[in-house]
Amino acid sequence: MQRLEERRNLRIDMWRRRNRSASWLIDHAIEHATRTDRLRGFALPMRPARCGWPLGRVDMTLIDGRAYATGLEHCASPWACPVCTPVIRARRARDLQRAADRWTGEGHALVFVTLTRPHTKSEPLADGLDLVARAWSDMTGSQRWRKLRNDLGIRHHARSVEITWSPGHGWHAHVHALLFADAPVDRKRLQDELCDMWGRALEHLGSRRPSKRHGVLCENVETTPEGAASYLSKPPDRIGSEITRMDRKQGRGHDSLTPFQLLDPPVIRRLGEWRARSLWIEYVESTQRRRSITWSRHLRSSLVGGREASDRQIIDDTIPGMRLYPIAPRTWRRLRRSPTLLAHLCSRTETGEVPIALDIIRLIAHERDGKTDDGNDEAERRCPRP
Ligand SMILES: [Zn+2]
Repeated sequence: MQRLEERRNLRIDMWRRRNRSASWLIDHAIEHATRTDRLRGFALPMRPARCGWPLGRVDMTLIDGRAYATGLEHCASPWACPVCTPVIRARRARDLQRAADRWTGEGHALVFVTLTRPHTKSEPLADGLDLVARAWSDMTGSQRWRKLRNDLGIRHHARSVEITWSPGHGWHAHVHALLFADAPVDRKRLQDELCDMWGRALEHLGSRRPSKRHGVLCENVETTPEGAASYLSKPPDRIGSEITRMDRKQGRGHDSLTPFQLLDPPVIRRLGEWRARSLWIEYVESTQRRRSITWSRHLRSSLVGGREASDRQIIDDTIPGMRLYPIAPRTWRRLRRSPTLLAHLCSRTETGEVPIALDIIRLIAHERDGKTDDGNDEAERRCPRP
């Protein structure tokens, strides 16, 4: 019962965030409408705003005991959708965890690496993201990296980019990487070498070098209890999530925020809506079409097997299930405006109280049209279906 309650609360938070994001992105599209947009009578908002729009018939579906609405458009954003991002990242975390478990199960070692760079408070997020991605690929494409890898017996790696924002320091994009080594490595040597290589790669791209003390951090992933208790170590069982689940983290320290927190009422109150909205829009725009997690060439084939699913495939995979009852698109739009009611409907469906769920739907269907709170319906009616 407690898990059901927890799930209900998580859903309410997730859909509130979704509605907030959609309304900001739609407003933004309208404010920046081009002449062509005005002539054709609509401005298409960025994809995450369209996530959850009905494609036709909507069905309440049960998948592994959980209720989902199917028949909806999904944006499949691995960065900026409160609904799709957790699904995609959970799958990436699971795959990476499998690879890590298999590797440590064979008696090998893992190192968790964090690479940061100095930046100004006003630096655009897109610039920071370009720099860390390019510095990482320049570094790992170099002769020196190949030599270090051979010397230390590093066979594979996976890397992700994580983003935080704080009022004092602006956008902060940094790299997390998991290195798969044959045996425990000399952490100090790895850290010194990486610090130098990372610093040079950044300098070459016109960025400043990171500080020796804080720029690069290497932590051993310890598999023994004694090791796990030691300084600078990470527990192995959650390492997949450490790399991939930026969506679930809270910003560290008092001021640091993760992007999804920009959609939460306490943060909006603190920053002011205009500022929170501008930051969110910058985040959505800057992360479009960027890969969230990359694996080195043979990591998947040697440790997990199978082909890597695209973000879109991961979302599509979650769709098949047992259809329980249909929801008319108009009723669905009304439901979507009320995350609390929608979460209640899902809980009732999961506990098998489908007649109660159907009563709720009938009630909503006959409700007179009220004011929208996600500002979504008008934009949705005006946009063509994909
Ligand atoms: Zn989405």
